[in-house]
Order: sequence, then C-alpha cells, then structure tokens
Amino acid sequence: MKRLVLLGGGHAHVHVLRAMAEPLDSGLAVTLVSPVAIQVYSGMLPGYVAGHYGLDECGIDLGPLASRARARVVSSSGVLVDPARREVVCANGESVPYDVLSIDIGSQSYLGDALGVETYATPVRPLERFVLGWESLLGRAQRGDIGSITVVGGGAAGLEVAFAMDHRMRTLLGAAAPHVRVLADTPVVLPDYGDGARNRLLRLAAKRNIGIHPSSRVAEVGAGFVRLRDTIEFASDATFWVAGAAASPIFRDSGLRTDARGFLLVNDFMQSVSHPEIFGAGDCATSLDNPRPKAGVFAVRAGPALAANLRAALAGQPLETHVTPSRFLALIACGDKRAIGLYGPLTFSGRWVWHWKDRIDRRFLARYRVDEAPTA
Ligand SMILES: Cc1cc2nc3c(=O)[nH]c(=O)nc-3n(C[C@H](O)[C@H](O)[C@H](O)COP(=O)(O)OP(=O)(O)OC[C@H]3O[C@@H](n4cnc5c(N)ncnc54)[C@H](O)[C@@H]3O)c2cc1C
Repeated sequence: MKRLVLLGGGHAHVHVLRAMAEPLDSGLAVTLVSPVAIQVYSGMLPGYVAGHYGLDECGIDLGPLASRARARVVSSSGVLVDPARREVVCANGESVPYDVLSIDIGSQSYLGDALGVETYATPVRPLERFVLGWESLLGRAQRGDIGSITVVGGGAAGLEVAFAMDHRMRTLLGAAAPHVRVLADTPVVLPDYGDGARNRLLRLAAKRNIGIHPSSRVAEVGAGFVRLRDTIEFASDATFWVAGAAASPIFRDSGLRTDARGFLLVNDFMQSVSHPEIFGAGDCATSLDNPRPKAGVFAVRAGPALAANLRAALAGQPLETHVTPSRFLALIACGDKRAIGLYGPLTFSGRWVWHWKDRIDRRFLARYRVDEAPTA
C-alpha cells in the first residue's frame, strides 16, 4: 500500500483531492492533515469584510472533498517532517507516515520587529483568527467604542482590507463610522504595481477619506495606539497586520532546504530540491529557477500539475515540469463593489471589474463544493 500525505488544504490541494476522487489504484492510501475543516478563500475575504458575502459563501468544506477521495483526515497541524522516518509529526501528537508527501500550507503573517504586534494587533493570518478579530470589532464599533482603525501593510491585500473595512463601517454607522488608515513602510503603496493602478487607488482613498501613509514604519503597537519609528503616534482602537508573507518554521525545523526567507525550495517538478519524495506548492514553496510572487493565483495554477506529478511519483513514472507564466491578472476590490484590474501594463477599473472578480471567485469555489461540483 503506497501512502500519500497531503499537508494543508490550500488552493492546490483542494484540486489534488478533487483529482484523487477519480478511480484510483486500490493500493493507495491518502491522508489529509489540516487544522481547519473549512478552507477560507482569501480572494473573497475582503468581500466578506465589506458585507457582500456571508462567511459560509467564502469557504471550501474539506471533509466532503476528502471523503469523496477516500482520504483519511487528521484534524491537526503538521509541526515537523521527519524525512529519515518519512513521517509528519502533528500538533496532536500523531505521526503520519508517508511514501510521498505534498505540502500546501500557505504562509503566515509577516510580523517584523515592531513591539506589541502579537499582543495588540490582529494579523490577517490565520484567516480564522482575523475573522474572529473582525467580528469582535464590528460589535465594538456598533456600541460606539471605535474611533479609528489602522491597517498595517500597503500591498494589495492590505489596501483591499482597508477599503472593505471602511465600506462596511460606513454602511453600518454612516457619519459615525471610524476613520480607517493604512500604514506602509515602503515609499509608495502597492510598490509591486504601476502608477496607473496606484493613482486610481489613491484617488478613491482620498474621496473616501481613507488615510494612506507611505514611508511609515511601525515601531510599536499598544492598547489604543500605533507608534512609528520617527515617534509619530496615531490613536488606533483596532490594528490589523497585513504586512506580507512569512514562512512556516516547519521547513527549517525539519532540515528541508529553503530559500533565504525559510520557504520550501522546490524544482520545476514542484519537488523539494533536498528531498525528492516531498512536493510543495502555493505560498509555502519557492521555485529555485522560476520564483513567483506569493499569490493565490499561482497556488491555483499548480493544482492540476501537482495532482499529475503526485500520481506519477507514486507510480514511479516520469514527472512533468510546471512553470507558470509570471504575468497574472490581479483584481483589487475597493470595498463598494468596484475593483481595479491589472494585467501587465494594462489597468482598468469599475463595477464591471468587481462583478468579473465575483464570477471568477464563485466559479472557483463551486468547483470544490461537492454538492455543486461535477464528479471528475
Ligand atoms: C486579504 C487577502 C486577500 C488576498 N487576495 C488575493 C487575490 O485576490 N488573488 C491572489 O492571487 N492572491 C490573494 N491573496 C494571497 C493568497 O491568499 C495566497 O497567496 C494564497 O492563499 C496561497 O494559497 P496556498 O494554497 O498556498 O495557501 P492557503 O490558501 O493559505 O492554505 C493553506 C492551508 O494550510 C493550512 N495550514 C497552515 N499551516 C499548516 C500546518 N502546519 N499543517 C497543516 N495545515 C496547515 C491552513 O490552515 C490553510 O488551510 C490574498 C491574501 C490576503 C491576506
């Protein structure tokens, strides 16, 4: 009996689970290790914050996907991989043996070196913790306890979250809505994008009185404040940390080869460059020869190729390379059912862009909902 272990239920692994539902070699045992039963889809998280979606519309239920693939589920996190014994050690104490291991555990919130972040700020990841923090803030805001909200992070995710929060607060509280600001430690917000998209976002932010503060590196977060390195202090009744991706410590702790930031280093077959029986996809892995930004679109694109390579590796057959084009469509939601789109040098915006994003996101989720999806 060959043992395939899927660590994490991320974007690529939901596809692998779906593919594993096809008729399989009866000599294969699949195990999914996941600390969550529902995989929250980050692409729709800003829409949930803005009030456009209920939480139940933004998730993939891993249980039915796993059971259709006849996979055993271990409800825990992997904390260590023991490549010599070929086992994943889980937080619940269980050890899960594998012949082939595939890892799609995403990234963690990059917290940096500012003081007080872990105690006083709500990181965007794990997404489940962020959701709890946001729900609790909504209650406090409705009681009139919130005057200002700070989002730390000026990338696409930070801006989407800030616009979504502003929209929801204005919808709920009108003129009494708290002020929302974005702090970024880069000289401009959206540093990875062109001026066209940035200027559109800045114009929208100015219109809605969302504060955008580039070159603002946070030194400390405390109860009711955020202090910058240059000692400027902002009152902040709630601070959310959306400052980019960091690697899980599991790769370094397990002695697997990583990039300089601690992400699993893989080749173009998505195999660990140090341990070929281990595969990695999505945010948690960095391609040695063709690195890409940490974006969900790359994890999604990896799914079909990963499924094929896992089957091939288990059968001892040759693997196929998977190199995604570096250009990708980015759609940044602006809170009020408008979005800005970017593709290469092109920038476009409007309500139609939001509706386009909505259709793409819903279609993606429907593919992995067992009651909605076709079986193959
Ligand atoms: C607010 C926000 C909006 C975003 N919007 C977009 C967007 O519109 N487009 C886009 O391309 N990207 C977007 N991103 C980036 C995107 O979220 C990530 O690139 C994407 O989630 C990566 O997918 P993944 O499969 O690698 O991991 P994830 O989707 O993070 O899934 C990883 C899974 O593994 C689980 N896990 C974690 N640790 C362990 C462990 N030790 N053991 C077992 N399981 C574990 C997690 O619980 C989770 O279920 C956004 C990010 C944020 C924060």
